[in-house]
Amino acid sequence: MDKFETVIIGGGPGGLSCALTLAHKGRDVLLIEKEKSFCSKTCGGGVTPRFHKLGLDIEKFIDVKFKNQFVIMVQNQLETFNPEIRVDLINRKKLGDYLKNKAQKYGARIKPNTNVISIKKDYIVTSNGKRIGYKYLVGADGSSSIVRRYAGLGTRDFIILVQYKIQKKFKKLEWCFDARKFDAGYGWIFPHSKFTSIGTGNLKSRMSGKEIRIKLDRWVSELGLNPKKLKPESATVNADYRGYKFGNIFLVGDAAGFTPPLTCEGMYPAIVSGREVAKMIINPKHSQLKIKKLVEKRTKQQKLLDNLNRFSFLRNFIYNSLVKIYRIPFIKKKLIEIIA
Ligand SMILES: Cc1cc2nc3c(=O)[nH]c(=O)nc-3n(C[C@H](O)[C@H](O)[C@H](O)COP(=O)(O)OP(=O)(O)OC[C@H]3O[C@@H](n4cnc5c(N)ncnc54)[C@H](O)[C@@H]3O)c2cc1C
Repeated sequence: MDKFETVIIGGGPGGLSCALTLAHKGRDVLLIEKEKSFCSKTCGGGVTPRFHKLGLDIEKFIDVKFKNQFVIMVQNQLETFNPEIRVDLINRKKLGDYLKNKAQKYGARIKPNTNVISIKKDYIVTSNGKRIGYKYLVGADGSSSIVRRYAGLGTRDFIILVQYKIQKKFKKLEWCFDARKFDAGYGWIFPHSKFTSIGTGNLKSRMSGKEIRIKLDRWVSELGLNPKKLKPESATVNADYRGYKFGNIFLVGDAAGFTPPLTCEGMYPAIVSGREVAKMIINPKHSQLKIKKLVEKRTKQQKLLDNLNRFSFLRNFIYNSLVKIYRIPFIKKKLIEIIA
């Protein structure tokens, strides 16, 4: 049986960042991905300015940068020039290739097209029956993580997101908050260079995937498009954080539930947690501060979402009031803290 110091399951932004960091320090690491390509999960590709501070060579995978964009709260339009909450768009496939090539350059072993079907105390089993031993196991296998299940964690609620990739080019990036249209979620229009992602989402406990799609279709029709001619892409996000270290088993990104539930900007926490877990494997005394910050951000968004859900009938009133008071420095600071 082959054996590696660290085996990572999942080649999304979290798993690849973990492999890269370990390999960079000369550690023995294998990453297993069930798909042929990397970072292939359906995604809007939006990143807030903190992503630019990760020290990645972002020019290799940035798709579109924006100077201004629109946040639409019910009927009001709020054009934001605020650099702290601006969204830029990246090309996820290019991000995957960038992280994978770097990890391989440093010596990480990367195995695509391989599904992990079972986990035992010190080895994993792949779909072709191969056993691979590990000292540390990292679950970077997304929202339906088998490593999370092996660690004994359930998931109280998922977020279902649905998007259409439309060939028409939209000029403006928009976030649309309107409870009548999107209930607890929001609608987004993310104009990439070769397509536009239009989507929305909600908690599974509040709405089924079918209901979310009906809401999206209505909005898409209002935007002058025919939803019958479009193919939806849908996936879940896990924002139910319940810990990330269980003896020699670690969880990163969506597998751990680090994604903040209001914005669902999951790529940033996946990369940060992937790196931090690698650093803890290298040095068990490594500070947990960055992980704590991720958890804090997630918790702040969870509280805001819970309150918006508790007072659903006031949601549009709150959105419209925010448009009026958002320029007050204290409110602006708080919003930035929660969102970006
Ligand atoms: C429609 C939609 C829009 C989104 N928009 C945005 C956005 O604009 N910005 C943003 O930051 N986030 C967005 N997200 C969230 C973001 O995509 C995720 O939070 C992020 O990809 C999490 O990264 P990860 O590395 O933890 O997991 P993932 O990217 O999900 O990667 C997990 C990997 O593990 C692999 N895997 C799973 N099980 C196994 C197994 N048994 N064996 C081997 N491999 C396995 C999968 O194939 C996958 O490649 C969106 C999500 C959706 C669904």
